[in-house]
Formats: sequence, C-alpha cells, structure tokens
Amino acid sequence: MRDKTIIIVGGGIGGLCAAIALARKGWQVRVLEQAPQFGAIGYGIQLGPNVPPMMAHLGLRDEVIAASVLPNNVMMIDAFDGQPVTVVDTGADFRARYHDDPYMVIHRVDLHNILVAACRTYPEIHLDEDAAVTGHEDHGDHVVVISADGRRFEGALVIGADGIRSHLRKSIMGDSEPAQTGYVAHRTIVPIDQVPEGVSTDDVVLWGGEGFHIVHYPLRNKTIFNIVAVFETQTFAEKMETEAYRAELERTYMHSHPAMRAMVKMLDLERRWPIGDRKPQRGWSKGRVVLMGDAAHATLQSYAQGAGMAIEDAVVLASLIDGCKGDYESAFKSFESERLLRTARIQLESRTLWSHYYHLSGIDAQVRNQRERARSREDVWSCLDWIYKGISLPY
Ligand SMILES: Cc1cc2nc3c(=O)[nH]c(=O)nc-3n(C[C@H](O)[C@H](O)[C@H](O)COP(=O)(O)OP(=O)(O)OC[C@H]3O[C@@H](n4cnc5c(N)ncnc54)[C@H](O)[C@@H]3O)c2cc1C
Repeated sequence: MRDKTIIIVGGGIGGLCAAIALARKGWQVRVLEQAPQFGAIGYGIQLGPNVPPMMAHLGLRDEVIAASVLPNNVMMIDAFDGQPVTVVDTGADFRARYHDDPYMVIHRVDLHNILVAACRTYPEIHLDEDAAVTGHEDHGDHVVVISADGRRFEGALVIGADGIRSHLRKSIMGDSEPAQTGYVAHRTIVPIDQVPEGVSTDDVVLWGGEGFHIVHYPLRNKTIFNIVAVFETQTFAEKMETEAYRAELERTYMHSHPAMRAMVKMLDLERRWPIGDRKPQRGWSKGRVVLMGDAAHATLQSYAQGAGMAIEDAVVLASLIDGCKGDYESAFKSFESERLLRTARIQLESRTLWSHYYHLSGIDAQVRNQRERARSREDVWSCLDWIYKGISLPY
C-alpha cells in the first residue's frame, strides 16, 4: 500500500505537516504547491499549547519552541481606556497546566523553513513548486491530479490542503467564495527598538474597539515586533492607493488610545488582506479526495487557531490513513467525525468573539469589561482548556 503516492495539494503549514506525518509512517508523498517557491508571507503567527504535542509527532517540537518567543501573557486591552480586559497568564503555571507545553509566537517564515527543511530530510517526500492544481480525476482505485501547465500526477489519494479558497473544495463540496466579514488586515514588522512607549514587548496583546483592533507581539528573540491592524471598511474588497489606505486608517483609529494611534502610523500599507471565513459544513471528502485545514474549516483568527487546527488535522489524518488498510473512504469519514465538532466550535466561537467581544462599544463594552475584569486567572484558563489541552490521537 505504502508504495503508492499520496498527493497533497498545497504546501502551506497544513500540507507540509501532513507530508511529514505521512512520511514518518513510511508513505510516499508528493506536495504540489502553486507558488514558485515553498514559503510564507513574512509575518508572525501564534500557536497555543495544543500545537507542541503535534509537533512532537513530527519530530519538531523542540526546534519550533526554540525558534519561538514565549510571551508572559496573552491579553486584550480596551482600545479607549487602555486597561486590560482579559489576561491569560501564559507563564510557568500555565505551561505546567498544559503538559509543559508553552504558548508560542513565531515568524511564519521561520516555521515554514523548519517544515520545508524537515520535508527535505525524508526521501519519501517529493516537493513540487510551480504546480497550480486546476483539476483532478477520481478513477476509483487511484486519482490523477492535473496542474495548470498540463502535468498529470498519479496517486492513491489526494489531500486538499489548498487553503480558504480551495480549488478542490469547490469541486467536491460545490460551494463558492468564503464569507467576508467586511474587515481587512494590514500587517507590519518593525525593529523592536521602534516600539512606541506604553506598548508591551513581552506579551501578545489585542487592543479592541468598535469595528477595529490591533494585535502585536515580539518575534525572533524579541528583536522584531509584529503589528496587525484589523478594521471594518466598506472598501474591503477594493485595491486602493497607499494614501487612501492611510486616510481610512487615520479616520478609523482617530479616537483610540495614543499607543494604538502610534502603531497605526508605523503600518506598512503596501498590501491589505480581506478577512473571511467559512461556516462549518459537513462533506469534507468524496471518493479518494479529502480536505483539511482552511480548505475544510477556515476560521476567523479570534482564537489564533486556524493553523493550530490545520496542524492537528495533519497528524490525525496521517494516523487514520496509515491505520485504514487501504479503505481510504472510511478513513476520511472517521477523519471528519473526529475533527468536525472541534473545528466547528473554533469557527463558531471565533465569529461570536469577533462580533460580541472584540469589537463592542458603549454599554456593551462596559458590561464586557466589568464581567471580564472580575474573572480569576483559573476561570480564564478553564475556559480555554478545551482548546489548549489538545487532542488524543485515534491510534
Ligand atoms: C491576519 C491573519 C492572522 C492569523 N493569525 C493566526 C494565528 O496567530 N494563529 C493561527 O493558528 N492561525 C492564524 N491565522 C490562520 C492561519 O493563517 C490559517 O488557518 C493557516 O495558514 C491554514 O493553513 P493551511 O495549510 O490550511 O492553508 P494555507 O496556509 O492557506 O496554505 C494553502 C497553500 O495552498 C497553496 N495553494 C492554493 N491553491 C492551490 C492550487 N490550486 N494548487 C496548488 N497549491 C495551491 C497556497 O499557495 C498555500 O501555500 C491567521 C490568518 C489571518 C488572515
């Protein structure tokens, strides 16, 4: 069985983790990536303590932790009064609670480099760049995946790890574009010594206000600082000039805390990302094709768990494929039932946090602040246990 190739469409975090997980069990894997090079956009990513045990399955736990910054706290601050609303203490007691696994923030490029380098150490893994997949044929006992330049790749099955706008999803689930929130993100990295006064360089911080937020945290041994500004705008789908973006940002953040306004001035406005997700849906597989990661269950970043879920998917899916004795359709059904409710809860609660927690104003925000500020450290942790305690594997 294992001499047959498994084709993975998409060399993002999820696809590369799946390739490593399968190769470690002896499977031949071919990863088809549309970009001319396997790589990531140059910003940060947060990974909760549910992720290191998955990295341990890939043999990469210590390497990923070593390349990360471990923040003291993950917190939300009110965008107007500048005071903490919810604080998740991510220090030693937090780590002890979650099987000695830390909360981490890492540069996406560093994470990607670790994953690509790991892939290259397995003779079972073949990485194909410049291979945009445009179609596939399911022949019952094998699949053929076709790229834009007409190449045909034959395999035993195909895993669609091709992200929120997944081509494979369209062909097996028949749905269309992701749901747009009307929010956009601008991302920036600056040297740590340029961080404005009053802004923590030891924590992951989200400053939330009506219709906007800013997230920031340090990266690379605290030498650089990642800032993401997210806000609602009618022009979310338009590409505009930098000056027009600047004017929108200044209007949006006009009444926010001075520290936020100082960070807005530092933003790189070359590019913006519209923020979308999908509502939970069944039907992640058809015949010999299965979806994982954002292709199956794209989420808003409220819990910072989209990649975390893709990494968990990769390990679970590899384990089920390996244990299924060639009955891939059953393995795919088990995969969906194993993963659906956890990922759906992330998607649904992320939408709730987005509209009923981060972006409130007036009395709604005051009620939130009063409620949240009265919570104990233990209470805050216990609400996150379902995510951070992680998963057990089917085999
Ligand atoms: C602003 C923002 C902040 C976020 N912050 C966090 C965070 O802190 N923590 C977290 O866990 N998650 C975060 N996320 C979510 C996270 O980035 C995604 O959930 C994660 O990248 C999904 O991984 P994936 O491998 O499923 O898909 P992707 O990372 O999207 O990878 C898909 C890959 O498939 C390739 N591809 C697409 N189509 C084709 C095709 N037809 N043929 C071949 N290749 C193709 C793409 O080029 C890409 O390399 C954030 C998202 C956003 C937008």
